[in-house]
Amino acid sequence: MWLYAWFERFWLHFTTSFSPFTLHTLFTFAIHEFAYWGVYLPYALMDRSKFFRRWKLQENTYGYSSSSKQSQKLPKEDAQKFWRCVLYVAANHVFLVLPLILVTHPLFEKLGTTHGLPLPSLREFIVQILFCLFVEDMCFYWGHRALHTPWLYRYIHAIHHQYTAPFGAVAEFAHPIEVIFLGMSTVAGPLIIGPHLLTLWGYLMVRCWQTVDCHSGYDLPWSLNRWFPLYGGARQHDHHHKTYSGNYASMFIHMDWLFGTDKAWRLSLQKAKAKHVRAVAQELAVSFSAER
Ligand SMILES: [Zn+2]
Ligand SMILES: [Zn+2]
Repeated sequence: MWLYAWFERFWLHFTTSFSPFTLHTLFTFAIHEFAYWGVYLPYALMDRSKFFRRWKLQENTYGYSSSSKQSQKLPKEDAQKFWRCVLYVAANHVFLVLPLILVTHPLFEKLGTTHGLPLPSLREFIVQILFCLFVEDMCFYWGHRALHTPWLYRYIHAIHHQYTAPFGAVAEFAHPIEVIFLGMSTVAGPLIIGPHLLTLWGYLMVRCWQTVDCHSGYDLPWSLNRWFPLYGGARQHDHHHKTYSGNYASMFIHMDWLFGTDKAWRLSLQKAKAKHVRAVAQELAVSFSAER
């Protein structure tokens, strides 16, 4: 309780130091940038380390091509792929995400998004973020599925699929129309409930973490999907980039399961499991015959 009271005092001091417009727009954009690039940074460092390659889902990501002998320095071609993605995403952020925040700001204001006291309770904070994530996942599923129809895929979504083995920064590497179109699924939940600014920032941070994590290309021992099976994670979305179809949801697995668009992925998991069992059995048989 003392922590809540301390944070309320801190929040009051912080929010009275800036104009409401600056808080709701420029700070919201800063939170987005901080979360997106901040979450990506550890993955970018992993991409340059040989140690983490054992958990990489595909081998041909930049800096991880099988031809690459060095782990610290990117080969020229991979460095080009990396910088092309980073600069394109940074331009998308400045010229699309920021204007989107500015345009939707009056709407959020009308819906009741405030930065005043009292702050939302921890329960309200968590429940509202979960609600927004579920709404986003549902809208993203149908939007993403629509982007895989021939015309929309060819002229819009193909850009995002240029990276068949994605890495963290690829998350928002997309055609400007796609950024706006799928960006609507991100703001759908907040537009329904008009959350407190603090909840909105919390949701934005989780959403940035989730999309960068799904594109990271790593299935790490501590990845959320290992202990929370409803979360698809990189394993699920990596398969989408590899095969160009199925696994359309952004965060959870229930939408693809409900509408049968995860069949190819589940089959690939079964095959990988059977392959692993065969390899272990073979290894045991070899060691057993050697002992005899
Ligand atoms: Zn796609
Ligand atoms: Zn993707």
